[in-house]
Amino acid sequence: EEARQKMEAQGGHPIQVIEGPLMDGMNVVGDLFGAGKMFLPQVVKSARVMKAAVAHLEPFIEEEKIRMGLADAPAKGVIIMATVKGDVHDIGKNIVGVVLRCNNYKVIDLGVMVPCQKILDAAIEHKADIIGLSGLITPSLEEMSHVAKEMQRQGFDLPLLIGGATTSRVHTAVKIAPHYHGPVVYVPDASRAVGVCSNLLSDTLRDNFVKEVAADYAKARAIFEGRGDAKLLPIAEAREQRYRGDWDRYTPPKPAWLGVREFRDYPLADIAACIDWTPFFQSWELAGRYPALLDDEVVGESARALWADAQAMLQQIISEKWLGANAVIGLFPAASVNHDDIEIFDPATGEKRMTWVGLRQQLVKTDKDGNKNPDWCLADFIAPKDSGVEDYIGAFAVTGGLGIEPHVARFEAANDDYSAILLKALADRFAEAFAELMHRRVRTEFWGYAPEEALDNEALIDEKYRGIRPAPGYPACPDHTVKKELFTLLDVPAIGMTLTEGYAMLPTAAVSGFYFSHPDSRYFGVGKISKDQVESYAQRRGVSVQQAERDLAPNLGYNA
Ligand code: SAH
Repeated sequence: EEARQKMEAQGGHPIQVIEGPLMDGMNVVGDLFGAGKMFLPQVVKSARVMKAAVAHLEPFIEEEKIRMGLADAPAKGVIIMATVKGDVHDIGKNIVGVVLRCNNYKVIDLGVMVPCQKILDAAIEHKADIIGLSGLITPSLEEMSHVAKEMQRQGFDLPLLIGGATTSRVHTAVKIAPHYHGPVVYVPDASRAVGVCSNLLSDTLRDNFVKEVAADYAKARAIFEGRGDAKLLPIAEAREQRYRGDWDRYTPPKPAWLGVREFRDYPLADIAACIDWTPFFQSWELAGRYPALLDDEVVGESARALWADAQAMLQQIISEKWLGANAVIGLFPAASVNHDDIEIFDPATGEKRMTWVGLRQQLVKTDKDGNKNPDWCLADFIAPKDSGVEDYIGAFAVTGGLGIEPHVARFEAANDDYSAILLKALADRFAEAFAELMHRRVRTEFWGYAPEEALDNEALIDEKYRGIRPAPGYPACPDHTVKKELFTLLDVPAIGMTLTEGYAMLPTAAVSGFYFSHPDSRYFGVGKISKDQVESYAQRRGVSVQQAERDLAPNLGYNA
């Protein structure tokens, strides 16, 4: 307001406050960010100042525009952004949006779970210059290929940007770029977004940039294809090479109770004590392990400021109960069958409730002395049905994000993207911490096989306990579609959680998975699998081979 009055007194226009001092400031921020001397939290906070200032100036600018019959100042370019259909994650997308907007791009953010056609229609309607797709879970990779194919089919030429946690340069080069003749560019993080867009929209730089990216992706494809099909054991041999528990001598622990229990409105303060802060800083692109990164020479100052803001909001979340945390835990009799599958039974009736069809590694694992190491499958950790040994499995779903929407909306309405993103990142932390806390209760109380366990939070974060909680979509069990049966087994919707068509969980701040108690149970990656396993998997799961190939696309060791 002071700058506006000064400008007015000098006979200038309110828009000049934006074009002058505010843009100068944002340019300094942009330069420092580009040079690695300023970090995302401060960039997003700077954007908040900019947005608030612009909001203050806008009525004066509008009034003058009407009075003088002026047109809108042109933006550098129009960018359509969306989290693709089936996916709900948007922290990264929102950060990129903020960064682009403060560099004077007009960003039209279509939100999450956006169907392909809506993205393409919006691109036409808004005369977009670029389309940016975001996604976090692996099914989104397939959806992004689909969007590329549709852009080709519908005659688009616009550049397509790809970003998000499971996306990569190689995936973009191999699975997306070949489907579309326009430029396709993988953007590894928010700090690259402006560089990529300004190259793509520059008359002088564009052609060279597009050529360079295309050449780089051709190289990535050649290397990828040169690798040939992964060298894999036939599934029958991999099964022979399974881990064999000593079921004659090992007695699985029996849970203190069997069945399903719900936990509603779990005290947030208890959950907060279990938070792992390192991934929180990662979500703001601050690398390093907590707490050491608070004193880091490069990012320390930025991390400390973010930390202070996070602690203040955390206290408010707890005292004003902004978020609801619900959980459902199940403990069931279980047995492995056909080596790779786990049958889960109703504790009351003994009736089969679910068959969790498993995937096994097919790696050639013979060491230099000729010893064969196990090709793991999660079913290895559950007693085989024909052993006659009674065994159990647990299942869980937790969320820390119930009721988040009005708070996010309130921040967004106040032009405060920083707080909106901070809140979402904290809700994610609550969900992960809640998963850790409930897992501890399972080990010490509910299943109770480790009643004496005494691990501090650091040891919990390092998972130094007995047992695992593999989550569908992660490397040991990469098929996201299993969540559908898991949600039915536990009646997860009863505690307010649902699945999207892409098997993402809502609320976004959520975790679900299974519990294993076996002392040798461990995380591993199934890795690449061959067609014989996919055919067997499809048949056991009762889906077509084509469907299984779609569900397991990132794991296929051959061209489907
Ligand atoms: N402390 C971290 C915990 C989450 S990541 C945080 O707060 O973000 C670790 C979790 O990911 C594990 O507990 C498990 O649920 C899942 N996970 C990791 N590796 C896995 C694998 N190979 N297969 C299946 N699930 C895995």
